[in-house]
Amino acid sequence: MTTHLALAFIFLLTLGGCSTNPVTGKSELALVSKQSEIAIGIEQYLPAQQSQGGLYQVDTDLTAYVQQVGDRLAAVSDTELPYEFVVLNNSSPNAWALPGGKIAINRGLLVTLDSEAELAAVLGHEIVHAAARHGAKSMERNMLLQGVVLATAISTSGSEYSNHIMGGAQLGSQLISQRYGRQAELESDYYGIEYMARAGYDPAAAISLQEKFVELGKEREASWVEGLFASHPPSEERVSRNIASSRTIKSTQAKDWETGEREFLTKLAYLSSKSDAYAAYDQAIALASKNETTVALKRVDRAIALEPKEPLFYGLKADIQHSNKAYQDALNSYNSALKRDDNYYQYYLGRGLTYSKLGNRGKAKADLERSNQLLPTSVASNELGTLSLQAGDRETAKKYFAAVARSEGPLRETATDNYIRLDIADNPSSYLQAQTAHRNDTLMATITNTTRIPIRSAVVQFTAVINGQRANKSRKIGNVKGSASVGISSGWRFRSDDVVENVTARVISLQL
Ligand SMILES: [Zn+2]
Repeated sequence: MTTHLALAFIFLLTLGGCSTNPVTGKSELALVSKQSEIAIGIEQYLPAQQSQGGLYQVDTDLTAYVQQVGDRLAAVSDTELPYEFVVLNNSSPNAWALPGGKIAINRGLLVTLDSEAELAAVLGHEIVHAAARHGAKSMERNMLLQGVVLATAISTSGSEYSNHIMGGAQLGSQLISQRYGRQAELESDYYGIEYMARAGYDPAAAISLQEKFVELGKEREASWVEGLFASHPPSEERVSRNIASSRTIKSTQAKDWETGEREFLTKLAYLSSKSDAYAAYDQAIALASKNETTVALKRVDRAIALEPKEPLFYGLKADIQHSNKAYQDALNSYNSALKRDDNYYQYYLGRGLTYSKLGNRGKAKADLERSNQLLPTSVASNELGTLSLQAGDRETAKKYFAAVARSEGPLRETATDNYIRLDIADNPSSYLQAQTAHRNDTLMATITNTTRIPIRSAVVQFTAVINGQRANKSRKIGNVKGSASVGISSGWRFRSDDVVENVTARVISLQL
C-alpha cells in the first residue's frame, strides 16, 4: 500500500507545472497534473465508496437516473474528465467528489431532495469541485506545507468495528472528508449554478436546496448536522449568493427552465417507500453502539421485514450477533448479506472474524483477504497476522503485524507487541541492548530490555582481546522485565597487569 502512495507521489511531482484553471480561467500553480488527478480518482474511487457504505444496489434504476442527470451536467462542464456518479448506501446526507471527476451521492441525501433540478444543484456543485481542481489544490497545499499528503487515520462510517483504513486507501478517505474552505464552496455554488443553467435546469433549485440545508441544520440533532454536507457546510451566505446568481442568469437568459419534480419523485418513489426500514436501521445502529443489543436486534429485524432486499440490514444484524458471541447466527446473517451484495468489504470482514471464532481458519483467511482487497483495514490485517502465526508462518505473520503497527488506531500497540514477540528471537540484539563496563577485576555488561515484553532468559556473548589474545565467553541471564535493566558479569578474572582491549557484549539469543 505504501508503494502505491509513493508511486502516486513521484507521479505528482514529476508531471505538475503551471497552468490555467479550466473553470475560473485563472493562472495557478499545478503540482498535481491532470493525468495524476485522473489516476488518483480512479485509484481511490472504489476504496472511498467502500469506506462510505458501499453502493446502494436495491434500486438500480435510481442509480441509472442519477448517472443520467450527472452526465447531462458533465457534458456542459468546463473540463473533460472521466466523470462517474454513484449512489452510496449511507444514511448520512452527504455528497463528495474525488479529483478526476469521481462523484458520489449518499442515499441519505437523495431522500431530502424534491426535484431533479435540486439533484442537479448537488451534482453540479460536486462537478465544479473536481473540474476546478479543489481536491487537487488541497493536496498541493498539504504537499507544500508538510511535504506529505497523509496526516491522520480515518475511520470508516457506520461501522461496528474500529475499522481503520490502512495504506494508500487513506488518501481517498482524506480527500472526501476534508473541508475545501469557504472560497471553494462559493466557487462550486457559482459555477454549479452556471452548469445547471447550461443544461436547462432551473437555477432557483440551488436556492431552495441551500435554504433547506440551512433549515435542516437548525432542526436536526448535532450528529445529523455533522453528516450534513460534512465537506460542504451550508450557510446563509451561500443562500444569498445563490439568489444573486440565479437572478442574474434568469434575467439574461430566456429558457423554459426545467425543475423535473414529477420525474424525480417517480424515480425516488421506491427508496422513499422504504424510509421506515432505513429509519429502523439507523435506530438499530444507535442502539447497538450503546450496547443495547436486544432492542437493536428487534429494530434491525423490523428493518428486514420492511425491506428484505437490503444487504446492509443483514450485515448489521450479523455484526450485533457477532458482538453477542452468537457466531453461528452471525455466520448465517453474513451469508444473507453476501447473497445480496458480494462486493462490500464489511460483510467479508465480519464473516472472516466469525469463521476465525468458529475455528475455520481457511475460510477466515479467504474472507479477510477479500475484505482487504476491497478496503485494507487494520482489523483484517491483524487477524490475518494471528491466523498466519497459528498456521506456523512466522514471516507472513510478521508482515501483517508490521503493517498494522505502522497504522493508526487501537490495534497499533497490540500489533507492535505481536511483531516484536516474533522479531525479537530473530534479532535479539536489536531489542536487548548491552553496555559494557570494567568493574574491579572483571568485565560487566548492563542489559537493557527496550521493549515492554518480559524476557525469560537470554545469552550474552562477551568478546575481548586479552594480552593480545582474542577471547570470548557466553553467559546466561534470567528474567529481564519489560523496560528494565540487569547487570551481568563476564566471569573473567583479570590481573592488574593484564591488557584488556576491544571489549564487546551482545545478546545472541533469548527466550520469552
Ligand atoms: Zn462543496
